[in-house]
Amino acid sequence: MQLIDGKAVASHFKAQIAEEVQQLKAQSGKTPHLVAILVGTNGASETYVAHKVKACAELGFESTLVRFDETVTEAELLDKVREINENPDMDGLIVQLPLPAHINPDAVMETIHPAKDVDGFHPINIGRMAKGLPAYISATPQGCLMLLEHYGIETAGKHCVVVGRSQIVGLPMSILMQRNTYPGNCTVTITHSKTKNLAEICRQADILVGALGRPEFITADMVKEGAVVLDVGLERVPDATKKSGFSLKGDVKFDEVAPKTSFITPVPGGVGQMTIISLMQNTLLAAKGSIYKK
Ligand code: NAP
Repeated sequence: MQLIDGKAVASHFKAQIAEEVQQLKAQSGKTPHLVAILVGTNGASETYVAHKVKACAELGFESTLVRFDETVTEAELLDKVREINENPDMDGLIVQLPLPAHINPDAVMETIHPAKDVDGFHPINIGRMAKGLPAYISATPQGCLMLLEHYGIETAGKHCVVVGRSQIVGLPMSILMQRNTYPGNCTVTITHSKTKNLAEICRQADILVGALGRPEFITADMVKEGAVVLDVGLERVPDATKKSGFSLKGDVKFDEVAPKTSFITPVPGGVGQMTIISLMQNTLLAAKGSIYKK
């Protein structure tokens, strides 16, 4: 079993991105600028956004955090998105999910200009990704691909089973793994909460992606000997032994699954480390006008 060290891979890419940012500044005077909109005070969202702002500072990006109270109307939020769309200095825009129930996340995602949609959630970017055209790819699945590539894990002809079909992880991951490229060329099965015989399907996986948000749901009996396991899950589980009162758990029961695998990501320290890197990379592409011409 080889542990996929997301932290080490992330620092490798961090150094590369920081270097490219310096080159861009030197050549064109342009500093990549990421804008994050945060609505309300959800603890996990606060943490995620703080990490993104910190990564911007570390890698030489400019960042702007726009905060709204939980009571903001959808119209007010959309107006702010349109204002940022029009600002040529702002390269990338993310709106941290989840949003309060009275705001339709699809309306927000569709209002972000595709050229600034560095989360890759706009239907145009999802469609372009599915067609294999240049697009911003959703950060977490992109991070998974970067890990597979970094470790030189063979994917062609393998059976990849993705557990979870969310728009931000499971669905794009399944599309990416079947594309005619590397990493890709897998035979893909996408599963969800209505899937029958889930354990049996998971046992057929050469590459198993857990993205369902159920702590330690994937147990050893669901995993084939020698499988590659990518654990996207990241859940706070109450833990009285921790100062914070919680510990972070993935979707995979790591201790019993790891010995059966050829490669596995830990939680924390696996896929999660790469999500921010992918976001930074997308923002750099936005600043350069690499995907959509400026
Ligand atoms: P989500 O929107 O809640 O989607 C969960 C998916 O899992 C749904 O498709 C759901 O099926 C499926 N599912 C739920 N219970 C299931 C079960 N018992 N058996 C089979 N499928 C089941 O979650 P998400 O946003 O994709 O996030 C998934 C996990 O990844 C969460 O733990 C989240 O915190 C984590 N995450 C981590 C990162 C990172 O950077 N590491 C980034 C994003 C998300 P239905 O469609 O039928 O409801």
